[in-house]
Amino acid sequence: MRIHHLDCASLCPPARRFVQGEGGWLEPAHIVCHCLLIEGREGLVLVDTGFGDDLMSGRRPLPADARLLGLRPAPGRSALGQIRALGLDPHDVRDIVLTHLDFDHAGGLPDFPWARVHVYGAELDAATARRSLRERCRYHPAPWRDTRWQPHPEAGERWYGFDAVRALPGHDAEVLIVPLPGHTRGHAGVAVRHGERWLLHCGDAYFFHTEMAATPSCPPGLVLTQRLLAMDDRQRRDNQRRLHALKHAHGEIDVFCAHCPHEFNALQVSA
Ligand SMILES: [Zn+2]
Repeated sequence: MRIHHLDCASLCPPARRFVQGEGGWLEPAHIVCHCLLIEGREGLVLVDTGFGDDLMSGRRPLPADARLLGLRPAPGRSALGQIRALGLDPHDVRDIVLTHLDFDHAGGLPDFPWARVHVYGAELDAATARRSLRERCRYHPAPWRDTRWQPHPEAGERWYGFDAVRALPGHDAEVLIVPLPGHTRGHAGVAVRHGERWLLHCGDAYFFHTEMAATPSCPPGLVLTQRLLAMDDRQRRDNQRRLHALKHAHGEIDVFCAHCPHEFNALQVSA
């Protein structure tokens, strides 16, 4: 089994020092969209999709929220483009496992209409019902018409003290959905076993590597962003504390989030 770390988009909002606590105030920030591609015996598994190929290749104008995030289209950068560049067949992506359904994580679903899409059931419910104004703004369900959803319940098994549910039973890739609600109602991490180690993709449960440092800290721009985006901020902060404790108690788990360039670079080098 082989695991690729894919950076599927550059988000460059202004004021890097405010957003990331480094670089200049007038410089754009550099935020990644970290996805995983697992090459297993039973085909390819994608963990998060990033934005769709139409947006990344400039075939569709950027919607307002993508412009706000400073998305820079770049042909070939989508998950679809990178899978092709690796010499792999996108039709071999049989399963997609998502941390949540915000468009920077699920925007690429229409590029793989043949794949089964595994998501924590509470998230699919939130994205379908869109009960609040924030949920009506954040979820864009129209392109998901033909998606082959596989919603998963929360109950299942325990993984290092967290609830977990096996996304792909019987598959050679051991992939668990680990509910981490807060950022969205059904937000989850995705744990992938890799030999004796685990990768834990935490999605948007936190945003920057300093939040997981021995003495945690967070740049002010990201404190604000995370509060504004959270559906339940207390739950989000509780789960962030649990992840911090997990990372420092278990060196065999590589804990990382979707948007930190430092974590992406470190894991890409070690892969
Ligand atoms: Zn995100």
